[in-house]
Amino acid sequence: MKDPWGRIIDYMRISITDRCNLRCRYCMPEEGVDWIPMREILTLEEILEVASCGADLGIRHIKITGGEPLVRKGCCHLIRELKQIPGIEKVTITTNGILLGQYLKELTAAGIDGINVSLDTTDRCLFKKITGTDGLETVLESLRAAAALAVPVKVNAVSVDWSRWLEDGQKGIDWKDLLELARTDPIDVRFIEMMPIGSGRDFPAISHERLLEELKACYPGVQKDERVHGFGPAVYHRICGFQGSVGFISAIHGKFCDSCNRVRLTSQGYLKTCLCYEDGVDLRPLLRGELSGPEKKAKLKRAMGQAIAEKPMAHCFDELDSITEMKGMSRIGG
Ligand code: SAM
Ligand code: SF4
Repeated sequence: MKDPWGRIIDYMRISITDRCNLRCRYCMPEEGVDWIPMREILTLEEILEVASCGADLGIRHIKITGGEPLVRKGCCHLIRELKQIPGIEKVTITTNGILLGQYLKELTAAGIDGINVSLDTTDRCLFKKITGTDGLETVLESLRAAAALAVPVKVNAVSVDWSRWLEDGQKGIDWKDLLELARTDPIDVRFIEMMPIGSGRDFPAISHERLLEELKACYPGVQKDERVHGFGPAVYHRICGFQGSVGFISAIHGKFCDSCNRVRLTSQGYLKTCLCYEDGVDLRPLLRGELSGPEKKAKLKRAMGQAIAEKPMAHCFDELDSITEMKGMSRIGG
């Protein structure tokens, strides 16, 4: 379906839980968050109903997210069912990787089309400081096991200057260490500009222009990679001798709203039309209302279509006072 700005909306991110087994400092406040009561979270059947309506409206790609999606029981079953919906072409997942090794077999059996692992550093101490957990080795093992399969694997790292987090005398952490993952394995490593959502406001975005300049200085012969890598706004470059590419997702300094193709479903059933605003529609009352069968589906589709028809033209991350979204990223799904 087209939105009022002529953009084709064919991508839906579905958050299936607000729970998480990590506490990334830029995503969850240090004092923690109250979990949403389970009765307020959509059941897997309700998620499938919304996805089916989305498919009728032109959604072709679904990304499963959270909180941490793999902590929700039935995540792989859901993926298998989503893959059966006529019109849905790809179902992918974004995970912190802690439980990935455990679920890799089930995910591939369910037909997962791509796995994104969020990993900000390959330094064990810094990983622990950022996430609150000594889990780097577990994530790296899962990541390598995933990369050995025939499924596209990407690493997503928020681009933050972590230098003030280092202990005195600790070896400097370098974004190039993360890039090594793309040298040794067929993994795309992507840097994502921090967005001023929730605790992310305390971590100013660093410009990708500077990163790209450094990249070119370190690896002469870096070339723009024009191949299609997915459904999103990342701009890719290839480094000679590397198996994976390096990508930049620059929501702030390289605003890409004119090619936005997505909507987001929160775990409570709210269909969000832009990350920056609370605009959208609460689908849960319709899902749990009195209607059933084709009447219910028609009403859900009307509500979703109406929300898409009112999708904002662009985010306003450069004017912090205009941001109306007050939820943290763990409740939205990234
Ligand atoms: N737990 C899963 C994970 O980490 O991939 C899925 C949910 S997490 C909210 C999705 C993505 O959002 C992660 O890659 C995380 O780094 C990113 N993220 C969290 N807060 C952000 C912020 N303020 N700006 C940009 N990305 C953010
Ligand atoms: Fe959890 Fe993902 Fe947020 Fe980290 S970024 S706290 S893993 S939801």
